[in-house]
Amino acid sequence: MAMPWQLKEGLERFRKEKRKPRPIAETLPAINIVELPIPRDSNIRTLPNISFKYPFLASARLTWDAAEFNYPALHRGKPGRKQTFEVYPVRVGYGTRYYFRCDCGKRAAKLYLHNAELACKHCHRVRMASQAITRRARPILQAARLESFLSNKPRLRQAQERLRKRLGDKIMTAQGAYNTRAKSLWAERS
Ligand SMILES: [Zn+2]
Repeated sequence: MAMPWQLKEGLERFRKEKRKPRPIAETLPAINIVELPIPRDSNIRTLPNISFKYPFLASARLTWDAAEFNYPALHRGKPGRKQTFEVYPVRVGYGTRYYFRCDCGKRAAKLYLHNAELACKHCHRVRMASQAITRRARPILQAARLESFLSNKPRLRQAQERLRKRLGDKIMTAQGAYNTRAKSLWAERS
């Protein structure tokens, strides 16, 4: 029996969709809600300089229950595209934590930019870098992460120095082990 054309077309489309590579989360620009000053009162907070931090945005407007992201205008004198997300608080032990509500209905602390569209990790089908690499390469990723984490957090590095004195080099040993392992893996590769 011949396959109905609708089924044939549908299967083809499905296969094409599936074959599209999933983007790696770490390589996508992303907005983390903890980096946004969500107002606690009824004021509207506009962020005209947000493009310094997120170059793909022109401006943003925040209220206690919504975040509006404005993209740069493509034509002079015309407003650019915008995306609005519901913002809602979740009470946690140490205070309040905010989440975006993605268009799919899921909550998200982080919105990823992919195909010029902000959405949650499920909508963009992102893969974490750790999922995309092999087991052998994972220590390299861990070492790189640890390094960038420490270099981006000077205060944390100071805290780590203090901790190092207290814990007797335990942390640095762990980091050193990562680095040594990573280096030897790199050496094996070439
Ligand atoms: Zn979503």
